[in-house]
Amino acid sequence: MIRSINTFDIREKNILIRVDFNVPLDEKGLVEDNFRIRSALPTIKHCLELGASVILMSHLGRPGGKNNPELSLVSVGEELAELLEMPIKFSYDPISEDALDTSLGLKPGEVHLLENLRFHPEEEANDYVFSSQLAKHGQIYINDAFGTAHRAHASNVGVPAQFKHKGIGLLVDKEIEYLQRALKRPSRPVTLILGGAKIGSKLGLIESFLDKAETIIIGGGMAFTFLKANGVNIGHSLLDETMVSTASRLMEKARQKNVQIELPVDVMCGANLSASSPLGPYHIHEMPSELMGLDIGPKTIEKFTSLCAQSGTVVWNGPMGLFEINGFGTGTMKIAVALESLVEKGGTAIVGGGDSVSAVKKYGLSQGMSHVSTGGGASLELLSGNTMPALQILEQ
Ligand code: AMP
Repeated sequence: MIRSINTFDIREKNILIRVDFNVPLDEKGLVEDNFRIRSALPTIKHCLELGASVILMSHLGRPGGKNNPELSLVSVGEELAELLEMPIKFSYDPISEDALDTSLGLKPGEVHLLENLRFHPEEEANDYVFSSQLAKHGQIYINDAFGTAHRAHASNVGVPAQFKHKGIGLLVDKEIEYLQRALKRPSRPVTLILGGAKIGSKLGLIESFLDKAETIIIGGGMAFTFLKANGVNIGHSLLDETMVSTASRLMEKARQKNVQIELPVDVMCGANLSASSPLGPYHIHEMPSELMGLDIGPKTIEKFTSLCAQSGTVVWNGPMGLFEINGFGTGTMKIAVALESLVEKGGTAIVGGGDSVSAVKKYGLSQGMSHVSTGGGASLELLSGNTMPALQILEQ
């Protein structure tokens, strides 16, 4: 069993929290999107309101084990202080005596942020000594960093290994609730919507949902490998040759398990990935061979969105087209709108990480979803039914 922060007596204790403050910074080094910082606030505020002191540790980017001022957490700290409406303490060296003294001297309700852990190569190496030094900052360890839960690093495996009292924060609890527990007793029918470019990273998800879902919708670039496996002429569309036989096998397995696989019936096209305005729609069997399918067409949108409306639960991973270019974002946007309507009618819509998260944000629809995951790879792992090292270490 993994304990939630709710189950600990945290009053006057130092709570060491692994958060995910891996946020995009702009050219001035300021926080460009504070979604992940805001997502960590419920756990931080819970601690502060109950009279605990909070020590926060995170990574930011890939500094490769070296100090890199461009990837400092200083501006994240400034953003956090603004969101919390209070000053916070900051230490440039997380394992220095000074940093430890600051943590030990915290009063209830105070916050101490440690500098980017990945400035130390020991973080990604899950080094024992580094973990022991970090562990000295707190009496209770809490993991609220879902985005890195599939990695075995010091801050999320080595450090908790040294704690008797350890558990998850409110954010990770919510991620597990929607990406794992909710799918054990889902409101039916269950629909999985997949899109994006890479099939390989989503194979586990498809396999797992062949036992969970009534329908699997496949759009985006990856749909063309499935269409090719069905003998469709896909022109110059994205194709993963190595996955054609896997796609055939998955479609055959779906037939045996009575899971409906839905592929695009029409597409909007462009000459290449730099195309700016859509050509078409073309029926899927009438795609000009010199063009690429870059978004789903109107008939497909109608079909996919009506399947969403008939679902009890929809899990979505991957855009329906090249949504970064406005002309090819219609399919993705319409799916997001359909999911918002589903949630309004009492259904559940879970957006499982990656580019579909960027898409719902782009269309201002994040608030309309039941859950938008903060982790790309981690959400795929959990949805695929796999355990993750950072959660495994917290089982007691
Ligand atoms: P993934 O990381 O596998 O989820 O892929 C996301 C990327 O797939 C996004 O950058 C999309 O623009 C891209 N994508 C979606 N549909 C298509 C398509 N039909 N052709 C090429 N790229 C696509």
